[in-house]
Amino acid sequence: MAGTSDQRLDSGIRAKTKDERAVTLSDSEGSLENVAAAADGATRRPRAEVKKSPEPEVMYCVNHPHTETLIRCARCLDPICPKCQVRTPVGIKCKKCASVGRPEVYIARPQHILYGLLVGLPLAIIAGALVARLGFLLVFILSAPVGGLIGETMGRVARKRGRIMQLLAAGCIVVGALLAPVTVLVVIGGIGALGMMTLGSYLVWLGLSSILYVVLASGAAIAALR
Ligand SMILES: [Zn+2]
Ligand SMILES: [Zn+2]
Repeated sequence: MAGTSDQRLDSGIRAKTKDERAVTLSDSEGSLENVAAAADGATRRPRAEVKKSPEPEVMYCVNHPHTETLIRCARCLDPICPKCQVRTPVGIKCKKCASVGRPEVYIARPQHILYGLLVGLPLAIIAGALVARLGFLLVFILSAPVGGLIGETMGRVARKRGRIMQLLAAGCIVVGALLAPVTVLVVIGGIGALGMMTLGSYLVWLGLSSILYVVLASGAAIAALR
């Protein structure tokens, strides 16, 4: 008789705790732990372990073995001291991983430079030849858009941007402007016509417009490839 009432009481507690557990599931860990403690010890233990927050582990920098740190590289997980930390958009990284994680678009290899050159130089020669024939005002208005277009086209063809492509575009614009008079002469009069060109006629052909053009266009190209 006593045994059955005990069992009933026991099952009543179990039923209640089950209900309470369902209700308090989204509550704070403390009340959930109390309910779990009333039920039995087996379910309580893992919860208590999860709740316990681990002590911050003191590590030593991989590059400076005597410097303590709490920070790990977001990529390779090496402990790194403040001197060795590089802030990146995806977290703090070590110097090695920060350079590896650099966007691919900024790493121009020889073939990309070649693609850029093959597109950029002809465009720059054509632009130089046309712009030098225009008046100062038109050069002033058109140079930046033309330079931006050259830079953008080179960037799209090579699929690269950044420092190297900027230098390449500016170089193409300068060389293109310098080659433009020679190219025009050869296109019109053939290779033999080059003999007629003197330094004086070359400089007259270039004129101040070309200098203005080169400055404005290369600036715009550099901005386009940033
Ligand atoms: Zn790393
Ligand atoms: Zn360090």
